[in-house]
Amino acid sequence: MRRPELLLPAGNLEKLRTAVLYGADAVYAGVAGLSLRAASAEMSPDDLAAGIAHAHAAGVRVYAASNTFARDGDLETFRRILPEVVAAGADALIVSDPGLIRLLRKLVPQIPLHLSTQANTTNAEAVRFWRDQGVERIILARELNLADVEKIVAAVPDMELEIFIHGAMCMAYSGRCYLSAWRNRRSANAGDCTQPCRWEYLLRESTRPDDPLILAEDERYSYFLSSKDLCLLPHLPDVLKTGVAGLKVEGRMKSSYYTAVVARVYRQALDALLSEGTGYVCRAEWMDELQKVSHRGYTTGFAFAQEKINETSPGIKNIQTHEPAGVVLEYDPESRQLRIDVRNLLRAGDDVELLLPREVAPVDTGHLTGEQGKALQRVHAGSRIFLPFDRPVPPGALLRKKITPQ
Ligand code: SF4
Repeated sequence: MRRPELLLPAGNLEKLRTAVLYGADAVYAGVAGLSLRAASAEMSPDDLAAGIAHAHAAGVRVYAASNTFARDGDLETFRRILPEVVAAGADALIVSDPGLIRLLRKLVPQIPLHLSTQANTTNAEAVRFWRDQGVERIILARELNLADVEKIVAAVPDMELEIFIHGAMCMAYSGRCYLSAWRNRRSANAGDCTQPCRWEYLLRESTRPDDPLILAEDERYSYFLSSKDLCLLPHLPDVLKTGVAGLKVEGRMKSSYYTAVVARVYRQALDALLSEGTGYVCRAEWMDELQKVSHRGYTTGFAFAQEKINETSPGIKNIQTHEPAGVVLEYDPESRQLRIDVRNLLRAGDDVELLLPREVAPVDTGHLTGEQGKALQRVHAGSRIFLPFDRPVPPGALLRKKITPQ
């Protein structure tokens, strides 16, 4: 069985480090300037260089995404920035614009190019076409089912192919959608979607604006554009059977906590599948973990369908049983305490767990200690505190707490 690369999103430097810590083989990051706007899921050139050095030290590859469709006026910016990204040590560039591909083949012929899923590659001839243009890997369209993916891999075995296995799905064809640009002036077509299809909508009649027509299954709203999230964890044997080179997790805008949980679960499952072979069984505890991060119900998307529309989750705004509590800054072996950067309101006695790459350990929050040594009863996001713990923990490890119903 081919060992595919597990790719995690890195929306910023912290998320990159989190993905590395929790088991990514590779990460992909947006680069400030390349989408021609300051988006929240992009890294500055300095952060990208630091992230590349950190990832490479751990044997993890970094792919820089520039999957916008450029206008003529944008090309000068790309000519300037992309060679800098290559010089910083990126292992590949993810692109979707044929013009950029042509430009890059001349400017930086040594860098591998990965074709973004936004290029909507759906057949073997299209794969051969892009191979002939010098593309080394293609992230196939999410709309393909696994049987079609397997046939394409077999038809073009010299190409590296990659598919999405987890994360948000579009109601449009792989990001070819103007909803975000229309509602928020941030375009999905430039890789900058704010996911307004997941927002709450009412249908109003213009003559009766205060009397909305309710379409919903819940008492107020209908999320009628909102797809459930893709999750192929229970189907990893079918996924690996396709022979793809890369398995990608969506979510550059998601939190470090999300990155940690998803990376950790898929790392464990892939390692188990590759070592156990036909004896492999998807463990219930892995799916339980995926319930602990924000999601909208899970679906297998197009993986087993000939042609279908994504399943929506009309009654579901969000599902999440746990939330991030903090990030470990360091471990002090003398006092046997963790120094924590708090990320959500934390009270003494809260039910908190430490998420480690290979285990989940309970943490005693009975004694929250401030940086000045003062005992505290509650602390807010942004505070720095100490918590007792009996053994060293790597910096960047995540703490989470159970959400208690109000
Ligand atoms: S708004 Fe929704 S459907 Fe449109 S590109 Fe963004 S995620 Fe996809």
